[in-house]
Amino acid sequence: MNVPDNGARITADLLVVGGGIAGMTAAIEASEMGLEVVLVEKEPFLGGRVAQFNQYFPKMCPPWCGLEINYRRLRGNDKVRILTLTTVDQASGGPGNCEARLTIHPRYVNENCTACGDCAQACPVDVPDEYNFGLSTRKAVYYRDMAFPPLYVVDPALAGDPRLQACRDACKYEAVDLAMQPVTVTVQAKGIIWATGWQPYDANKLDTLGFGKFPNVVTNVMLERLASAGGPTEGKIRRPSDQGAIGKIAFVQCAGSRDANHLPYCSGVCCAASIKQAQYVREQYPEAEIHLFYIDVRTPGRLEDFYAGAEKDAKIFFHRGKVGEIREAANHNLIVAAENTLTGKVTEMEVEMAVLATGMVPNTAQERPPLDTPLDEWGFVGSSASGVTGAGVASRPADVAASVQQATGSVIQALLAQRR
Ligand SMILES: Cc1cc2nc3c(=O)[nH]c(=O)nc-3n(C[C@H](O)[C@H](O)[C@H](O)COP(=O)(O)OP(=O)(O)OC[C@H]3O[C@@H](n4cnc5c(N)ncnc54)[C@H](O)[C@@H]3O)c2cc1C
Repeated sequence: MNVPDNGARITADLLVVGGGIAGMTAAIEASEMGLEVVLVEKEPFLGGRVAQFNQYFPKMCPPWCGLEINYRRLRGNDKVRILTLTTVDQASGGPGNCEARLTIHPRYVNENCTACGDCAQACPVDVPDEYNFGLSTRKAVYYRDMAFPPLYVVDPALAGDPRLQACRDACKYEAVDLAMQPVTVTVQAKGIIWATGWQPYDANKLDTLGFGKFPNVVTNVMLERLASAGGPTEGKIRRPSDQGAIGKIAFVQCAGSRDANHLPYCSGVCCAASIKQAQYVREQYPEAEIHLFYIDVRTPGRLEDFYAGAEKDAKIFFHRGKVGEIREAANHNLIVAAENTLTGKVTEMEVEMAVLATGMVPNTAQERPPLDTPLDEWGFVGSSASGVTGAGVASRPADVAASVQQATGSVIQALLAQRR
């Protein structure tokens, strides 16, 4: 994990951009085929979105089950060079001969760090925690559950704040180094795998569904953090307005998805994600009523069993209905209005909290990959012709199992592209 020297040139078979489950898989599989890989992640830690979840469907195991295996395969793997806090500034060339200029942004914490946490304890600066979608704060010097690499990081926006000298002084290993500078390196590779993943569709754009206006309307990704032991409520799902218990909750499927005005496609994971989250609520509140409003339930392949299991639960109710409006009632309760997509009949229900099941938007829709890589109409990476091959959700909406399979295939695709 050592940072290369400024100006260094690195030669590799593949450059993998994005250190989520797909990028890690591509890097590991390529290395196990004997290839030299540089794996680049823009955040301070690997893991991507999966690290933010409470549990995975369909097995309902915690994310470290899958992540830890990958971290173990990366630890001591001398064929994968991992660069965190790194971005690709520019790339040139094509299949078989790509050159990329990278910036490695400073961590302000060096390899002496033992993750003891003394720096964070001494840190006087608190900021909203983006990882918890602003539902809590974090220190300017921070660490994450399941962090890989296991090193603290100083928020770059605050590294110049004189108050952070207290963090440096608290570290008995001299690991906090606020004078660190960015490093620029060049990677010469035969191909690039682009695994930059997704972000949630912006629920603020769904102006009739009350997100951002009514405190008890949250999104599915926020619910993952609310249910997670490392999240803002230490895993207790409470409604945000008063931290109250949940007696009745609604899940709003296709919130912005399959909608020409928002995301025209189906992300393919939101129905299973809501069924998973219904189980989180169910475990914490055995008496709670859970109402799931859907256009149609999409749980392909083996996920059908997962759905069938939830259907048997006497407290989970599935309603055919497209939710058109959420209003606020007394005590910050919510009125959810849904139209039955077959009969046209509109029904209203009062609940204490509503979860918007928003879909996945590929990061490539906003930040195009280099080398004029073709994208499809929704912004997913199209073909490998440019020398850049998409992997995971950068190439299509997918769950973890499909992302892993697709990422393994992307290595072959990247190798084939070099021969054309
Ligand atoms: C609410 C919700 C719940 C879900 N629950 C489940 C579940 O229980 N089970 C399941 O199988 N699937 C689930 N999914 C789907 C799952 O999240 C995806 O399959 C998975 O995240 C895909 O991994 P990825 O590596 O392609 O992308 P990501 O997880 O998004 O990882 C991409 C990585 O690339 C990095 N990156 C981005 N841009 C750059 C850049 N320019 N340079 C360098 N690095 C960059 C990011 O920081 C990130 O680390 C869920 C999805 C949603 C919406």
